[in-house]
Amino acid sequence: MHSRQWVANHDGNISVRLLDGRFLATPTSVSKATVSRENLIVVDDQGKVVSGSGKPFSELSLHLYIYRQRPDVQAVMHAHPPTATGFSVAGVPVRTTMMPEPVVSLGALVPLVPYAAPKKPEWTSGMGPHLADADVLLLEHHGVISVGPDLETAFLRMELVEHLAKIQIAAHQVGLVRDIPDSDIEALLEARTKAGLGHAARVTATAGAQGTDPIREMVVNEVSRALHR
Ligand SMILES: [Zn+2]
Repeated sequence: MHSRQWVANHDGNISVRLLDGRFLATPTSVSKATVSRENLIVVDDQGKVVSGSGKPFSELSLHLYIYRQRPDVQAVMHAHPPTATGFSVAGVPVRTTMMPEPVVSLGALVPLVPYAAPKKPEWTSGMGPHLADADVLLLEHHGVISVGPDLETAFLRMELVEHLAKIQIAAHQVGLVRDIPDSDIEALLEARTKAGLGHAARVTATAGAQGTDPIREMVVNEVSRALHR
């Protein structure tokens, strides 16, 4: 996030769900350029530090809210990528429907969550209505929060939203931001579900009683053990 210039100062934070119901997280008040194995912290589901000397970041309540709403989410990432964050300041949604591929990857829209001051109940609950289907949210006057079944996916989703924001500006500058035909959207959303993405796919997967991924389980256990040593 730091090398992509999505954060400045101490901005941005990352967490990962551990198997024991706790969370591995970046500490507050450090540049994301200096995050290392040594300064990561482990917090419980109430946000209390159970391992590590750092303190939790203020947006941890956003992360924990998402983990409670979305059992499929294993990683949450928050940053202020400058272009997408500019959209959030302007109150302009980043459009996925300008091209076919982002509709498959992210759905028919990137929700713009209304502004709420940090720590107000609406700060977290405002995300609620949008979390069922969206894996990336634009937080008004704030930045971007992305989620995924793993860190890399959450990272790539944030990267895509920042990239789309740049494309949208370029289209606006040279002429007009145009969407693909409405009649194509439904088929793309079906492709999204077939690819295992979005709310509909999760409902199907849950109904099919999916098992846990043994490799993921092994890696998470190993990290958890190393941190508690
Ligand atoms: Zn922030």
